[in-house]
Amino acid sequence: TIYLDHQATTPVDPAVVEAMNFAATHCYANPSSPHAAGIRAFREVERARGAVARLIGAGRSEIYFTSGATEGNNLAIKGVAARTGGPRHVVTTAVEHKSVLDTCRSLREAGHEVTVLPVDGEGRIDPGRVAAALRPDTALVSVMLANNEISTVQPVAEIGAITGAAGVPLHCDATQGVGSLPVDVRTLGVDLLTFSGHKIYGPKGVGVLYVSNRLSDRAPLAPLLHGGGQERGLRAGTLNTAAVIGLGAAVGVLAAGRQEEAVRLAGLRGRFLTELAHRVPYTLNSGTGPGFLPHAVNLSFPDVDAQQLLLEVADLAVSTGSACNSSAQEPSHVLRAIGLPPERIRGSVRIAFGRFSTEAEAVRAAHVLAAVAGARPPVTA
Ligand code: PMP
Repeated sequence: TIYLDHQATTPVDPAVVEAMNFAATHCYANPSSPHAAGIRAFREVERARGAVARLIGAGRSEIYFTSGATEGNNLAIKGVAARTGGPRHVVTTAVEHKSVLDTCRSLREAGHEVTVLPVDGEGRIDPGRVAAALRPDTALVSVMLANNEISTVQPVAEIGAITGAAGVPLHCDATQGVGSLPVDVRTLGVDLLTFSGHKIYGPKGVGVLYVSNRLSDRAPLAPLLHGGGQERGLRAGTLNTAAVIGLGAAVGVLAAGRQEEAVRLAGLRGRFLTELAHRVPYTLNSGTGPGFLPHAVNLSFPDVDAQQLLLEVADLAVSTGSACNSSAQEPSHVLRAIGLPPERIRGSVRIAFGRFSTEAEAVRAAHVLAAVAGARPPVTA
């Protein structure tokens, strides 16, 4: 298999496997236990917390481990909405991940008001629209760092300046961005930030929620899970120690080489697109310049049903948009939000290069896709 679906998930880095092996073998004690074995596990967990905090410019006491970005997004959004008491107003965008949009929908059903802001043709939110949407009862704004289907990087720092001046907490789902972009919570002006282990070559089922002390000190978030009071009372349940320690290792590898790697991956993507362009017509649904993630591209082949195409290139792991949605068979809400017509959406393929991708794979993938896309009879409507 040529694996080019790094926006769905990433392979686990060997350094992470090693760290998890060590953790499972030597850090099996409960990190909340006061005996020496517990303290050993606790120390390793705290080391991971420190690595995560450094990665995003936060304090260690502002990092909470979760089961992933879905839980983090739920906890951030519901946790802020619930702490305020009574119905409030939440602002988000039309291109967020379902774990944000569906969480906001659940708030609406619970009596809150939700404003879903539209985006431009590149999928970008206008900070001016965020400013205009704010109300005295706005409890939260939630904007992603980078999109998981079309790679658009949002102007989060500009939005953070606006929400900061208005005294409204800003949440950022950084799941897709943190692997490629420098993230600093103070520069971004965010009070809440989430990401996931499995998009940065770490394990699945573990993630991070950053909550600024400034926000927690004013009023703590309402937890989703009640129990043993772990994670400073915000996320009860014994930590998945091995996964947390693996995540810490993943963050270490990421921090060491993110910038050079982004340049390398942009190069692979460029090579892939050039090879493809020699062989078959396509249109780009995502940008490849600044303002987009460097390693990914979304494109449509004319008169091609991408779902069918992917069945014919089974050895090539690419996708037709968000993996979380692909069982739903619903046309992508992101591609609809940027105004693509149904036939462009039907022909859309998402390709994302990663840490272990090679130039030979980029070239081979272009040849395989072109052979299948070029050979397909036109779809009849
Ligand atoms: N947000 C974004 C932008 C994502 O791409 C994903 C993963 N598809 C998630 C949230 C959910 O992350 P997790 O799988 O860790 O729940």
